[in-house]
Amino acid sequence: MRTAVVLGASVAGLLAARVLSDHAERVVIVEPDDLTAVGHAGPGGTTEGPGGGGVASGPRLGVPQGVQLHVLMAMGRTQLDRWLPGMSDELLGDGAVFCAGERVHQYTDGVRRPLIPGHDLISSTRPFLEERVRRRVLGLPNVEVARGRADGLRFTANTVDQRVCGAFYLPTDTPATDDDGFAAGSARTRRVCLAADLVVDATGRGTRIGTWLEKAGWQPPPVERIAIDLGYATALLRRGPELPDVAVTTAMATPAPAGSPQPDSAAVAEVEGGRWMMVLAGYAARRPTRDPREFVERCAAIPAGPVREIATGCEILGDVVCHRVPDSRRREFTRLSRFPAGLVVVGDAAASFNPVYGQGMTSAALHASCLSAYLRSGGRVDEPARDFFVRQRVVVDAAWQLSAIGDLAQPHVDGPYPAGFRAAQWYSARLGRACALDPEVYRRFLDVVNMRERPELLTRPGTALRVARALLAADRG
Ligand SMILES: Cc1cc2nc3c(=O)[nH]c(=O)nc-3n(C[C@H](O)[C@H](O)[C@H](O)COP(=O)(O)OP(=O)(O)OC[C@H]3O[C@@H](n4cnc5c(N)ncnc54)[C@H](O)[C@@H]3O)c2cc1C
Repeated sequence: MRTAVVLGASVAGLLAARVLSDHAERVVIVEPDDLTAVGHAGPGGTTEGPGGGGVASGPRLGVPQGVQLHVLMAMGRTQLDRWLPGMSDELLGDGAVFCAGERVHQYTDGVRRPLIPGHDLISSTRPFLEERVRRRVLGLPNVEVARGRADGLRFTANTVDQRVCGAFYLPTDTPATDDDGFAAGSARTRRVCLAADLVVDATGRGTRIGTWLEKAGWQPPPVERIAIDLGYATALLRRGPELPDVAVTTAMATPAPAGSPQPDSAAVAEVEGGRWMMVLAGYAARRPTRDPREFVERCAAIPAGPVREIATGCEILGDVVCHRVPDSRRREFTRLSRFPAGLVVVGDAAASFNPVYGQGMTSAALHASCLSAYLRSGGRVDEPARDFFVRQRVVVDAAWQLSAIGDLAQPHVDGPYPAGFRAAQWYSARLGRACALDPEVYRRFLDVVNMRERPELLTRPGTALRVARALLAADRG
């Protein structure tokens, strides 16, 4: 292929661009943020970000979630190293934290689960990771950036076999834009078209792909949403000599019955620059605020020793920063009967789910691998990329199933409930209990969370039997 255009230069777009650099003579990434300015924002980045600490990476406008805690799962690390060999060593060499499984402490409702060697994570601030991935991808000789905001797809003029043949964008020097993203007054005349054999939408959960397709007479993908109304509040704290055996602690809470006060969840991870990054998560009426006193009080009340100790003993650096996730959402491209050739969609633009499981970057990396598998197995850019979307669906389903079961258990969430939901919820509650009792069950659960195994592993007879045995033994005392 001659030219591939990737819309969006975050994790999904960068890794898709890396894959496409093996298949296209030229890869152009369209991104509105000034990528030369980010990553060098000095301590803490913008004044809105959690401040202090002296790292040379800052958050950027196009990735508002970038100031929140981002941990890289084991499979994400494998995929990063696949596409950018040595990437994880580079991250760790530059100061990211290797969180060996033995230093990852996970609590559910105050009960600590076994420590599982081999389930290692990488922890750093998100801009730190993204900057290094970006440097590697933009260093490839056939990858370049066009600074601007993607504003639509270009289709061939023919009605039979019409396909995507490029993307429009508004260069970022265009004057201020109105609500639709068009520059005030003269925007359309300033639109630039990039011709492409393949366009990859990696513009994140707010993608306008449905509108763009519809405008051209194509069906928009059906969107499934679960209205989770999740709030995150995150702060950086100075790390001292406390808790040398802890790199990450997560403290998840099972929802209380409707009408009762809902418990908070929290997580804390060591990040570069000798700091902890702590996040407090609450749903609906319990979404946390930026108030540092409230943040400390609520974290200190979490039934997980390390969270309490860090919240009460460590100094907060900078502000508490909030982020809201209104819904988990997925766009179902495999359900479309017609789809144009020359277009694929990756990352959060395809599916963006509850972040408490930390699977977003790993999913994005797996989508890039799906794209590679599609192109290597003879997938053509002049045909609809159905086989790509079928491969991607396996990844999306895996992450979605895991997060949906938790999302739908929240009393404020009212569906949509998939077939068999009650049975799945019944089993999930027992599996959760067994995770604290049988390290092998928990190891399998983590294999699924880390996207090394498919969720089916957890319902296979061998696992179900272990769950039943563990619960029986516990009930017998
Ligand atoms: C609160 C929170 C916490 C999270 N924690 C974790 C975690 O611990 N671990 C993990 O793996 N994942 C986590 N995630 C998920 C993770 O942030 C995403 O899944 C990941 O960034 C991949 O997203 P993406 O590249 O598809 O989109 P994004 O990261 O959202 O990036 C979209 C990109 O598209 C650009 N863009 C937008 N519009 C246009 C346009 N019109 N034209 C061109 N470019 C455009 C933006 O500037 C940006 O660069 C978390 C998410 C949230 C919300």
